[in-house]
Amino acid sequence: MTVRTRVAPSPTGDPHVGTAYIALFNMAFAKSQGGQFLLRIEDTDQVRSTRESEQQILDSLRWLGLDWDEGPDNGGPCGPYRQSERRELYDKHGQELVEKGHAFRCFCTPERLDELRKQQEATKEGSGYDGHCLHLSEEDVQAKLDAGEPHVIRMKVPSEGTCKIQDMLRGEIEIDWKQVDMQVLVKADGMPTYHLANVVDDHHMGITHVIRGEEWINSAPKHILLYQYFGWDMPTLCHMPLLRNPDKSKLSKRKNPTSITYYRDMGYLPEAVVNYLGRMGWSMPDEREKFTVAEMIESFDINRVSLGGPIFDQEKLSWLNGSWIRENLTDDEFADRLHGWLLQESFIKKFLPFAKERSEKLSDFMPMSAFMFSGMLDLTEEDFKHKKLDQDDVRKLLQFALWKLEAQRVWNKDNIFGDIKGLAKDMGYKIGDCMQPIFVAVAGTPNSWSVVDSMEILGPDMSRARLRHAIEVLGGVSKKQMKKLDKEFRTLGQTSE
Ligand code: GLU
Repeated sequence: MTVRTRVAPSPTGDPHVGTAYIALFNMAFAKSQGGQFLLRIEDTDQVRSTRESEQQILDSLRWLGLDWDEGPDNGGPCGPYRQSERRELYDKHGQELVEKGHAFRCFCTPERLDELRKQQEATKEGSGYDGHCLHLSEEDVQAKLDAGEPHVIRMKVPSEGTCKIQDMLRGEIEIDWKQVDMQVLVKADGMPTYHLANVVDDHHMGITHVIRGEEWINSAPKHILLYQYFGWDMPTLCHMPLLRNPDKSKLSKRKNPTSITYYRDMGYLPEAVVNYLGRMGWSMPDEREKFTVAEMIESFDINRVSLGGPIFDQEKLSWLNGSWIRENLTDDEFADRLHGWLLQESFIKKFLPFAKERSEKLSDFMPMSAFMFSGMLDLTEEDFKHKKLDQDDVRKLLQFALWKLEAQRVWNKDNIFGDIKGLAKDMGYKIGDCMQPIFVAVAGTPNSWSVVDSMEILGPDMSRARLRHAIEVLGGVSKKQMKKLDKEFRTLGQTSE
């Protein structure tokens, strides 16, 4: 048997370090077994999936050197490798399940399901779908279909007993069938859900080992059942531990930059990032800290993965990165890396016109644009002195701006400006008063060119990291204060007008 693994990202946002982590372990496992590693794009959520996000994911994984044998860009024998292009296959298999009696058509309206959910919450009895359409007669179903009633396809699930899941790292896991919902497999618009598409594709792409994050354990019973319904062999499952923030919470962009592009723009070397990801819950047999992907593959043993939540700590990554720069790059290579990073025309041209407007001499350029090449800025409380607002107000304002911008899905200067303007209105501040601390946080001075232009160019993760850093410089926000601010933020704008 040839081992075949895959990483299956959904292109719904910035390329996440968690995706790179899972890709690395899939690749290391496949290659250590002489197998193949695939990349599949899971874009069945058509509202949230974008081609830009897909491109960024491909670029980021390539940048890290996590190359795939088959994928949407390089093709392969099991293509297409983008789920939105494989609909016919899912249609066919969805129908097959209905015909075999393993799935049923459900005509329940969103209103009924909403009502059901509310009732279940109030009585604390039951959860998930109640099987209302499970026993519709064939005639009833046909009549509803003829009348053009919208419907979904749901899978049947045993009502008692337990599902036993074999996991490569965790051994046997048991989940009661009672806890497993009659999952929707095909949505009303005819698109498959993750569960159907994922199982169908893993089968047709010959995947032998599914290595993915532990957040998918609860989906495993549904998948096991689908393999049984189809009469297909089940791949081996392996659920990796989740990456965590230094405070042990799940790695999230609210606490830590999570986008691979942030780490690239911050000037981390790809070999250091991959090396660091390789150390998340895994170690070399000789416990050495520095290793390449090739070395990892050579010594790879999945049983060396430990399940304690690995902590993704930027400070440790920086230490490792420094050691790669100092010990592994010649001066010429270092210069090449700087050019490949942001010291290149295409990046500089993005803000060149702004700098030109303000230049008297060429030598003005470097000092006024240094913040475009920096990581966290060297700031003090003094820098945030405000004509009208005291330090607490400024800190609150920055926290609120950060929350607004964390929710911003389309990162461009108009949307960023819209968010800040909306905030100013809701907080009863003048826009200029709101902008000033944001200028300082992002550019280090209120006298730079338009800060929303800078934020657009710096990108969401870097901009948010600078706001977070500014809040720390101003004393940070304790857990208790955070709760209070959160409450205030939620009610913001509701009382006006
Ligand atoms: N599309 C899923 C994700 O975004 C894939 C999960 C899996 O590997 O099964 O993580």
